[in-house]
Amino acid sequence: MEACNAYYYATRDPLGARGDFTTAPEISQMFGEMIGAVLADCWAQAGKPDDAIYVELGPGRGTLARDALRVMRAAGFAGEAHLVETSPVLRAMQQEAVPGATWNEAIGDLPARPLLLVANEFLDALPIRQFVGGVERRVMVAAGGLAFDRDGQIVEESPAREEAVSAIATCLAATGGVALFIDYGHATSAPGETLQAMRSHQFAPLLDKPGEQDLTSHVDFEAAAAAADGVTATRLVTQGEWLERVGIGARAEALARANAERADDIRAARQRLTARDQMGELFKVLALHAADWPAPAGFA
Ligand code: SAH
Repeated sequence: MEACNAYYYATRDPLGARGDFTTAPEISQMFGEMIGAVLADCWAQAGKPDDAIYVELGPGRGTLARDALRVMRAAGFAGEAHLVETSPVLRAMQQEAVPGATWNEAIGDLPARPLLLVANEFLDALPIRQFVGGVERRVMVAAGGLAFDRDGQIVEESPAREEAVSAIATCLAATGGVALFIDYGHATSAPGETLQAMRSHQFAPLLDKPGEQDLTSHVDFEAAAAAADGVTATRLVTQGEWLERVGIGARAEALARANAERADDIRAARQRLTARDQMGELFKVLALHAADWPAPAGFA
């Protein structure tokens, strides 16, 4: 999964109508704006530290960063933008969207500064391991392609995901800041297979075309929060609830008034991001914050 995704992301822009999947920031500018407003509010409440930096893990086309930073700049935040991205194709797109940003290969390369961090659909792309009856399930070469070596009740684990959350928590505990993780997933650890492959906006057979389709799994937020040592984790809220609590309704109406010809599209985008039968319920938001930083808005 690690090798397939590294190749997959390094060789294409996977997003949008002609790609394999679409993400919340690509649906509407409101998504990034809400995140920017919440991060700017934390920064202001923390006394506007001028060494704080905006950080995004896996920024895709850079759309979320562009929308969030527009709001943060308007609120007086003048700090640097640091993007953690391995894909050269996506780095080039991010450069257009976020002029002046700095790229980091890995979380461990981030500077020791207070972080205003967001990761949308980043954790789901990190590799997982599957176990059947306590034995790791492996992929083998079989007649005509690839096959799993065993079947049965599957338990998934993601050491890579836990390491990423743990590394961010270590940074927050040392230098302050807040982190927002947004992804599809579940609130409590449970057995079951969630690994999925997406190609051209459709689910595809998992082992088809390795490196040519998007491999992700649902994030176990209980395990993720448990990896966050030394910081405070908020409760987990659904994306729909969180966006409504931080004011997407008012933003949608303001945008609709200012762009009457697009009003229907704007209201439809709000629905797509928040409705229970769309992205609102499956996607969840978890925040971490340093002990001496405020909890981000929308979780209380
Ligand atoms: N956050 C964006 C893109 C999500 S796709 C959005 O919401 O639209 C996943 C992103 O994570 C891509 O930018 C991909 O290149 C990046 N990514 C995947 N694995 C990574 C890794 N191990 N290290 C850094 N970035 C990674």
